Amino acid sequence: MNSKGREILKVNVEKLIEHLNRAYADEWLAYYQYWLGARLAVGPMRGAVAMELAEHAKEELEHAEKLSKRIIELGGTPVLSPEEWYKVSNCGYDAPRDPCVEKLLEQNIKGEQCAIEVYNKLLEFTKEGDPVTWRLILEILEDEIEHEFELQSLLEDLKKMMKR
Ligand code: FE
Ligand code: FE
Repeated sequence: MNSKGREILKVNVEKLIEHLNRAYADEWLAYYQYWLGARLAVGPMRGAVAMELAEHAKEELEHAEKLSKRIIELGGTPVLSPEEWYKVSNCGYDAPRDPCVEKLLEQNIKGEQCAIEVYNKLLEFTKEGDPVTWRLILEILEDEIEHEFELQSLLEDLKKMMKR
């Protein structure tokens, strides 16, 4: 089907779909890392940490939804099988082997920092030729920056509390 929406693009669409699929895999892995972390968390402030992790899990899943919608609009297919998530992911999966809140926070801060780099590069990639994807990526980047900030704030509070 001829699509005006695709005709106006001035990017390498194949490449763009590949990048979006990598980010899509990242989001599913981040979702699970947060979702499970929220359930495993032990230690000081576990209630507050678990609540934040659960909230982030929800938002990572929303990112996956937004990305899948755009991939399909662009004529692509979102990664079909979970086994491929590992293969195409940029940021990978860091299993919450140590459920202590401090470790979980550090792990997920690292994940957010990886996500921020990925989306910042994707902004660069889309800024000239695909304003619709650009705006979508900007929205997600804003969330990831907020996520990093929230986790770092929790970690700071935790450290202050443990010093007393
Ligand atoms: Fe995300
Ligand atoms: Fe995030």
